Amino acid sequence: MKQWTALFLVMGALFTILFFTSDTFADETVTPTGEYVNLRDGPGLTYSVVGTLDAKKEATVLSTEGEWYEVKVGQQKGWVASWLVTAKSSEADVDAKADVIVATTDGLNVRSGPSIQSTVIGKMNAGVEAKRTLERDGWSYVTIDGMDGWVSNDYVQVIAANETDEPKQPDEEETTPLPTDDTFFVEVDQLNVRAEASLSSEKVGTVKRDESYLVLDRQDNWVQLALPNESKGWVYAFYGSFASDAPKQADDALVITTVADGTNVRTEPTTDAPIAKRLSAGEQFTVQREIDDWYAISVGGETAYVASWVVAKPSNDHVPSADKKASIPGTLNGISIVIDPGHGGRDRGTTGARGTKEKDLTLRTSHMLADKLRAAGASVHMTRESDVYVPLRTRAAVKDELGADAFISIHYDANTDSSIHGITSYYYHDNQQALTQTLNDSMMEAVSNNNRGAQFGDFLVIRENSADSVLLELGFLTNVAEEQLLTTTAFQEDITRGIYNGLLRYFND
Ligand SMILES: [Zn+2]
Repeated sequence: MKQWTALFLVMGALFTILFFTSDTFADETVTPTGEYVNLRDGPGLTYSVVGTLDAKKEATVLSTEGEWYEVKVGQQKGWVASWLVTAKSSEADVDAKADVIVATTDGLNVRSGPSIQSTVIGKMNAGVEAKRTLERDGWSYVTIDGMDGWVSNDYVQVIAANETDEPKQPDEEETTPLPTDDTFFVEVDQLNVRAEASLSSEKVGTVKRDESYLVLDRQDNWVQLALPNESKGWVYAFYGSFASDAPKQADDALVITTVADGTNVRTEPTTDAPIAKRLSAGEQFTVQREIDDWYAISVGGETAYVASWVVAKPSNDHVPSADKKASIPGTLNGISIVIDPGHGGRDRGTTGARGTKEKDLTLRTSHMLADKLRAAGASVHMTRESDVYVPLRTRAAVKDELGADAFISIHYDANTDSSIHGITSYYYHDNQQALTQTLNDSMMEAVSNNNRGAQFGDFLVIRENSADSVLLELGFLTNVAEEQLLTTTAFQEDITRGIYNGLLRYFND
């Protein structure tokens, strides 16, 4: 009982500090991942560009909203997209905004602290939602049924705050009135109109492609339209354009280049939308518009959408050669492979008994594996090349967007029982089992670690993925002896050679 009281006092103090101290983000800065990033006057791509932040310049984070950072550089303030910058923080990562998380596994432990050493105080079953008010070291602090505790981010899926928020009450002080001559053009076949600026709000009608409406108000990424018969309603602003936006598109036209044969373009800016066409490597397109992390491009006279994370921008991306041959025995020529280094950025993954960070080791292994695969002729795409945060759904979508042949997610394991050690290879769908088994067998020929075998595992990056996607847990960082072995160059060489040999065997047979 005393421990609980102390815990709540500490939690209470923590919350007070986090939510009522103005310098919560004082130690956090962001730098552009590419050559520059636009500063906008609000947290969305529909807001005007007010300046740019150049490469290597650091901007101080003032606040966050959804996937956007409000930053200050010199005297200038503005908003930057989180997926275009790298955040640095000297403090534990903190999300002041409440997200909703969903457990992805049954019996998920809820603990008294953000560590597998902390006491289990409850359980969550798969599909159960909880509100997350804090995040640190790969753990989420959640409130569920009046109980508070920590759950590992490895077993939850985050629903962005703007998808779940209660409809917001218009706030007179915060709402900026817009020029009344602003017009919204609908750019999708059909768009739902809602009573409030929220996806959970009641649907009150639809608008159609090429129709245009007077803009009455904007909130976050929503726009309120004046509709016929003096009615009005809210639509999601990404699915259209504004008359006042038009001129700024012209001078800084972005040209993108496809990097793989079979790159999907879709009818809507989402991986759920039908595929309009598959592109070959090396094709170039001028970007008409950016919608979240999708580009609108013109393909055969029709507007279609390609994911920004699967194409090369001229500024900072390496464009691989376009030739793609059939696989030749003994090589990986013509095979394209996505490597997914687990965790990254604010998501540290597990931390080893001796302090090894999972996110660092997965990246090291992935680079080494990529080198081996490229040397054998494979075309390799990594879901991250550096210490950055990439959402799980983005990672899971890369293989199909690229039309790649295999997806390999690299992780290191953890357990409260520090005696547990060994390598486990996970599949989710039946059509992932053969590759998983082949890689597991091949790794076991290359190293002498304990073999935990090929198993079913409910991980988002393989569950929401297609055939030949696997997740490899290459050993337990919570086992002191294994942690030491895993970090050696000898082990890294052996395990990546094992994976490489498995891929060779799988694609050559
Ligand atoms: Zn992991």
